[in-house]
Amino acid sequence: MFYSYTIYLFLGIIQNRIISLFIIYHFKMNIHEYQAKDILKSYGVRVQEGVVATTPQAALDAARQLNAETGTKWFVIKAQIHAGGRGKGGGIKLAKNYEQVTELSKQILGMQLVTPQTGPEGKKVHKILVAEDVYYPGESEPKEYYLSIMLDRAKGCNVIIASTEGGMDIEAVAHDTPEKIIKEWIDPSVGLQPFQARKIAFAFGLEGNAFKEMVKFLFALYKAYESIDASLFEINPVLKTSDNKILAVDAKVNLDDNSLFRHKELADMRDLAEEDPLEVEASASGLNYVKLDGNVGCMVNGAGLAMATMDIIKLSGGEPANFLDVGGGANAQTVEAGFRIILQDPNVKAILINIFGGIVRCDRVANGVVEAYKKIGDIKVPIIVRLQGTNAEEGAKILGESGLKITPAILLKDAAQRVKEAMA
Ligand code: GDP
Ligand code: MN
Repeated sequence: MFYSYTIYLFLGIIQNRIISLFIIYHFKMNIHEYQAKDILKSYGVRVQEGVVATTPQAALDAARQLNAETGTKWFVIKAQIHAGGRGKGGGIKLAKNYEQVTELSKQILGMQLVTPQTGPEGKKVHKILVAEDVYYPGESEPKEYYLSIMLDRAKGCNVIIASTEGGMDIEAVAHDTPEKIIKEWIDPSVGLQPFQARKIAFAFGLEGNAFKEMVKFLFALYKAYESIDASLFEINPVLKTSDNKILAVDAKVNLDDNSLFRHKELADMRDLAEEDPLEVEASASGLNYVKLDGNVGCMVNGAGLAMATMDIIKLSGGEPANFLDVGGGANAQTVEAGFRIILQDPNVKAILINIFGGIVRCDRVANGVVEAYKKIGDIKVPIIVRLQGTNAEEGAKILGESGLKITPAILLKDAAQRVKEAMA
């Protein structure tokens, strides 16, 4: 969940961590490399060929199939998890014969893969991609490049980010040698222009066939990005092979959640095994939930209010344990679902509920809170409820008279004060 916002941050597209977290959360569905490559291929983007497998036997069959199709004698076994940096963590290994394919598949399948993007607990590998080796020797050295496409919100258009420093940690490149990163903004009314693609291929120092291939590659890539309503493409590395072909070795594709209704086949690519169980449970209840590391759970309606609430929690000396937006229609069910999810987090020492009664009336939310509280029963952490807006007074009264350990507050600063007292 936490990794890709850093791309936005370090490339200077978004400066604020919470906002980037929020944007990533709201506009992304993550898929595996093998799925991303299938999509890219269908738009004419050349990719490192591969076959996905879940057992060592299937991996061996995949290698034989690849050998028949591409002639490759070496294979790369690539762990499929929703996180990058797999190579560094030992999740990408080169097999130089069929025995090694079996051996390395056994090793990688089922491993708890820790990469710089997974957190210390790592992620269990359920699938591997058996891919052709594309770093074979030839007339020139293979060379790696970096390409990504994303939305630049400040400029209101997509931006292609390119660097000659492919295969590296792009955040480090952006930090240490920002001159090695070029950005090409795409005017949405005319799309990617030939001069822009040529500019990037030229900046890569390409010539001849490789230059032409890179231009073609960029057009196909951009077409794919627009067609599937992606929110992020990151191809790191893009490879120029020793015989001057350009292809995607890796592919990170995030899809815009809000567009999935019109891409049924893409929505089906979701892999729940890769997602945080609490986040899956939340999304099943229609809640927008992101787990964070703090100790104050918060339940809020509206993303803007959620961010303001997280600020208030920080100002009062706490750290938000989560981002939770119950959406416009807060009722007893959503409040209960939210409670249950927050309470499963052992770090939570207090819960702040901050709901603005616009469409939903505060008295109804208050009843929902009381009902959910009674249903769950034994809640040990203090709960501070701030209801503001339509029928706020009635809401506070219902909470006050409920006999439950709920502290009502109407002003945000009172709520913050109550949180502080609760934490003391
Ligand atoms: P990531 O570590 O999760 O970003 O995974 P990548 O797919 O980007 O692969 C990481 C690295 O593995 C690449 O930068 C290459 O150095 C190496 N690699 C990937 N494919 C091949 C291949 O076909 N042959 C060889 N020799 N190395 C490869
Ligand atoms: Mn990569």
